[in-house]
This record gives sequence, C-alpha cells and structure tokens, in this order.
Amino acid sequence: MIKNIALLGSTGSIGQNTLEIVRKYPNRLKIKALTAGNNWQLLAQQALEFNPEYVALASTKNEADLKAALANTNIKIGTGENALIEAVSLNNVDTVLAAIVGFAGLKPVMEAIALKRRICLANKETLVVAGSIFMKAIKENKVDLLPVDSEHSAIFQCLSGLNNPNLSKIIITASGGPFKDFPTEKLKDVTVEMALKHPNWNMGGKITIDSATLMNKGLEVIEAHWLFGADYEDIDIVIHPQSLIHSLIEYSDGSVIAQLGWPDMKLPIQCALSWPERWEPPLKAFNLLHAKNMTFFEPRFEDFPCLKLAIKAGKEGGIMPCVLNAANEVAVEAFLNNIITFIEIPQLIETTLHGFNNAEVKSIDRLIEIDYKARIFAKSMIKAEKKSAV
Ligand code: NDP
Repeated sequence: MIKNIALLGSTGSIGQNTLEIVRKYPNRLKIKALTAGNNWQLLAQQALEFNPEYVALASTKNEADLKAALANTNIKIGTGENALIEAVSLNNVDTVLAAIVGFAGLKPVMEAIALKRRICLANKETLVVAGSIFMKAIKENKVDLLPVDSEHSAIFQCLSGLNNPNLSKIIITASGGPFKDFPTEKLKDVTVEMALKHPNWNMGGKITIDSATLMNKGLEVIEAHWLFGADYEDIDIVIHPQSLIHSLIEYSDGSVIAQLGWPDMKLPIQCALSWPERWEPPLKAFNLLHAKNMTFFEPRFEDFPCLKLAIKAGKEGGIMPCVLNAANEVAVEAFLNNIITFIEIPQLIETTLHGFNNAEVKSIDRLIEIDYKARIFAKSMIKAEKKSAV
C-alpha cells in the first residue's frame, strides 16, 4: 500500500535523505506535504520535483517569493506556525516523518498523533521535552511510532519492533564526536569550525554540536527511556568511534543482540518508512571485512558534562528535560554565533537548570510556557556573563 507522507523539515539533512528514499520508491511513497523553516528556495525546488498538495514555510518573511516560485502549479502554500499543523492535517496524509530540529517540531507532531498518523520520529527533542504526554497520546490514539534516530532504530530492530518484557539492558553506542581524544585542557579552545566537523556523520548544525558536547547522547538516553520503557539505570552508553554498531540490547538471559550498518541515515529512514516490510538496500552492502577495527570505550563524563546533565534531567522528569532542552538550544545557537565558548555550553545549561524548581507537566501549553521562560532565562545569563566580563 502506498504511504502518503507529510515530511516536516524537508530542507534539512534528514529531510533531504528522506527525499532520496522517496525518489527510489515512487510507487510506494508519495509526498503530500513538505515543510521548512526559512529555506523557501530549496522548499520550492523540492515542491516542483515532488508535486505535493501543500507546502508550509514556518517563517512568513518569504511568502511572496515562495508563491512566485510555485505560481504555475496547483500546490497550496501556507506560512507561519499554523501552516505546519495544516501540513499534517491534510485529509489523505497517513505518515508523518518528523525531521524539524528542536522544540519547534513539538506542536505539529502532537497534532499528527491526535490525528492518528503513523509517526516516523527523527525530531528527538519532542520526545525529550514531552515524554510522558507524548507516549500517552501515542497509546491512546493507537499510533505506530517508528524511530528514525539510528541508535533507536537499531534497538527497535533488535527488538523486532516488539516491546519485549525480557529486555534487561539497552546499550547505546556513541561515536564520541570530534573531541573524544582531545586533551581536557584544550577543550576551552574548540572553535565552531572544529566542532562542526563530525568524524562519521553528515548532519545539521545543531545535532553536530550536540554530538561534540555529547548532549546528543544524553538526549538519546531520554529518548530510549520513553521509546522502550527502559529505566535509566538499564541504559548504558559505550563510545564506539567507528559508528558501525548502532546500538545493542541485552536480554534477561544475558544474550546480546546488535544492529550493524554503515553510518548513513538512509537505512534507518527507509527502515521506518518501510516497516514492517524490508525493501532493497539503500546503501552498498555492509561488509565486516571492510569494517576493519571496532573499538569501544567508556564516555569521558567529566570532560563532557552535558551527558550527565541530560541524564540527571531525564531522571528528575517533570519540567526539567524541557528546561534542559531550551537551555541547550540557546547555548548551541550562541556557540554557533561565537557568543559563548564550547566549554560554556554545559555551564549555561547547568545555570539555567538551577534557575527552575521542578514541577509536574500536564499539558503541551505548559511546556510551551516553560520552554519560553527557560530560553529567556538562559539568554539573560549570557548577557549578564558578557556584561561582567567587560
Ligand atoms: P537540519 O538543521 O539539517 O534541518 C532542520 C529542518 O527543520 C530544516 O528543514 C529546517 O528548515 C527546519 N526548521 C528549523 N527550524 C524550524 C522552525 N522553527 N519551524 C519549522 N521548521 C524548522 O537538522 P537535521 O536534519 O540534522 O535534524 C533534524 C532532526 O532529526 C533533529 O531533531 C535531529 O536531532 C534529528 N536527527 C538528525 C540526524 C541526522 O543525521 N541529521 C540523525 C538522528 C536524528 P530550514 O532548512 O528552512 O532552516
């Protein structure tokens, strides 16, 4: 049966990889809606190729340009935040591939769940900030949730898509990022250019910085907790610089199962879109003889404090993962704009977390409020720090 897809974040790294899969399977996958943040040029180009019913641009600034670029088509155009909701609400959409980066993806994904769309989830931040509400909505609406993140796709595949009660441990692998062997004292000199050079994966800017600080792995631990119902104590992290084993699970009898593949997002994306079917390989065949060495290390928790901060916030639950995520988004943006240094990223996140008392989260509106407050708090901390430095 053909899958009718709303692709949220089509202009990003995951979005573009997804379109490569769609190109290969025109009889199985049909794009109904495409969305972007600002990049109207690429969005228009994608729309002309895939001929969706609807395109949405979150920013309203270039509405006229997008309309002009699609003037000779029947494609409907929406701009602003609500346009993202419209994209998932189209009548014939059955699958939503969520690849917006950050908190901005939360509302459209929650709407898609309420509408009972199948969710292929790359946008891990939504699950991190809204874990309990998100999973409750998934259960109540009996929605299929398919992980796209390579580690979670690996765990899902090792479990064969079942939530197995005999699962005793999840072992998430991490490349370690570009600074895994960097001397501690040199981390203060890390530049944006250095941090954007990931050794194995070609990804968007935010997740590349998250990989360098190991925040990405912390977010993934929280993601695994919600996706697979695992206790935090039963989730281990192992640094595996070659990124060939994408994650492992251990069953209660001690048996360990791993999923392997080249470090390329096309396979987990295709796996989510095709599940429970298996289609032709999107990459050259995996070959252990070409894989050569596989090595494993413990993470350097003390040198990369984001990892501990994320796991602590995950364990605390309530609003804390939302505060963590907001502070991290502010910190990463400030680092990318050369406003704070690499080692100031975890410092800013920790200060922001200390600025909030934990509380239960009952609604998405409350999370939107907390996200807003945490961003304001984190930004004010940056300003205060810069003032005291002059
Ligand atoms: P990119 O930065 O490459 O792309 C992000 C996408 O989201 C773009 O289409 C962007 O539009 C859009 N976007 C950004 N801000 C907004 C906004 N405020 N409203 C609406 N749309 C917005 O990110 P990635 O593709 O790397 O990552 C996407 C998600 O997938 C993240 O959550 C990431 O953690 C996760 N992920 C990514 C992996 C990867 O390999 N890249 C691997 C595993 C998970 P525009 O282009 O116009 O800015």
